[in-house]
Amino acid sequence: MKSEYVVIGLGRFGMSVAKTLIQNGHEVLAIDKDEHTVQEISSDATYAVQIDSTDEMALEQLGIHKYAHAIVGIGEDLQASILTTLLLKEMEVGRITAKAKDEHHGKVLSKIGADHVIFPERDMGKRLGNLLSSNNLIDYLELSVDYNMEEIRAPRGMGGKTILELDLNRKYGCIIIAIKDEFEKVNISPNANDLIREGDILMIVGKHQAIQKLHKDYTKH
Ligand code: ATP
Repeated sequence: MKSEYVVIGLGRFGMSVAKTLIQNGHEVLAIDKDEHTVQEISSDATYAVQIDSTDEMALEQLGIHKYAHAIVGIGEDLQASILTTLLLKEMEVGRITAKAKDEHHGKVLSKIGADHVIFPERDMGKRLGNLLSSNNLIDYLELSVDYNMEEIRAPRGMGGKTILELDLNRKYGCIIIAIKDEFEKVNISPNANDLIREGDILMIVGKHQAIQKLHKDYTKH
């Protein structure tokens, strides 16, 4: 069986990933070229080593091929990020998640075999922009290019109506998948006769524009 996680590049991002994995009980090999950074995590991580991850021999000696998942958190040094990802791929690490600084960097990482490329700065900025620009949106999760899961507070016009009466699926192509009331009680997968109260938090799956529209329509009621 493969060992669990190797996290390479312990900047703010990599360190946060590594510490969260450790807190959740996983085995983590933490790697950075900077000695002080490695010291910071050495008492928590299963193994913490100071090496340059572009050094093929050093990676091989650590038995990197035995790991099921590698996370590359190097951002600024493009060459190091790309070369490290390439070496991990060649060594047949199970799955590679790599952090990209921008779209070009991301494209290269995907091309050389990263299974998952993430853009933390871009995505956090987009997320905050979306949350700030719609005052009814409490939280959201992108399910695909088209569909989101969004949390909104039920406006006045929805209060006292059942899911069947609202008929959001037919009118807006949206589905209420959970309702949280004022006592934080969550009703998962509500049925057609469940009643919505004004101020309930509704978790809705649908297109962002459609969810915004239904919120606007029921605020006018
Ligand atoms: P963050 O935003 O997560 O703080 P960043 O995008 O600014 O990070 P860098 O500062 O370039 O990215 O790198 C993050 C970490 O990766 C640093 O701790 C750095 O020492 C380490 N690192 C960079 N190059 C290598 C390398 N070749 N081998 C091992 N570690 C490296």
